[in-house]
Amino acid sequence: MAIGVLALQGSFNEHIAALKRVGVKGEQIRKPEQLQNVSALIIPGGESTTMAKLAEYHNLFPALREFVKMGKPVWGTCAGLIFLADKAIGQKTGGQELIGGLNCTVHRNFFGSQIQSFEAEISVPEIVAKEGGPPSFRGVFIRAPGILEVGPEVQVLAEVPVPSDKAAKSDPAVENVEENAASEQKVIVAVKQGNLLATAFHPELTADTRWHSYFLKMLTEINQEASSSTSLSSEDLSFSEPPKYDLPIFQQ
Ligand code: GLN
Repeated sequence: MAIGVLALQGSFNEHIAALKRVGVKGEQIRKPEQLQNVSALIIPGGESTTMAKLAEYHNLFPALREFVKMGKPVWGTCAGLIFLADKAIGQKTGGQELIGGLNCTVHRNFFGSQIQSFEAEISVPEIVAKEGGPPSFRGVFIRAPGILEVGPEVQVLAEVPVPSDKAAKSDPAVENVEENAASEQKVIVAVKQGNLLATAFHPELTADTRWHSYFLKMLTEINQEASSSTSLSSEDLSFSEPPKYDLPIFQQ
């Protein structure tokens, strides 16, 4: 069965291309009924306010919430992470609708504006344990959110140091501590909670497909648990050639 990619706005083509590289078909989702044809869903990065308006326009929120509640695997990248969060701060006036389900508080533009976008090698022990490959992952952070708080059932998969200016700003109490101490503060950028996966960065913009294959393994595991006849066989998920880890990337 295909993997759905919410295709209202943002980097959905890049996710579909990444899925293709791991041998799986990505299906564009624009209408509620299309969710019935897919066994898992990726919500791409983009602009969460715009995406929320489009999702509302297409009456997608009830079906998306139902999809999450049914325990089907859903992975949100960047704006997709904001969509999945139970609580978001730093929203535009009037707020925005969220799908929710992921027990965390996310700051929408934690790392600042567009020009403060950056790339960083991040440590990803859980991904390495399941997928192998190099010990770090090239994280592409584009006007990225940060996860400020998580519930006890949430597994933290990656953290990055908080830029020192942000550390001081986000907590006035730390303003006077030595710079070293402030720069050691970390913010969560990848989490897993049961069927939900969320990353503040954009794996679909790199040639490293380990997050995509990790997500597909979540689907296989969830299907196995449910002993469903729709589970993907390990053959469906096998690589036709070894994954490449260099940048850049986007190939149709
Ligand atoms: N911070 C952006 C938002 O609020 C998300 C950026 C991204 O998806 N690259 O939607």
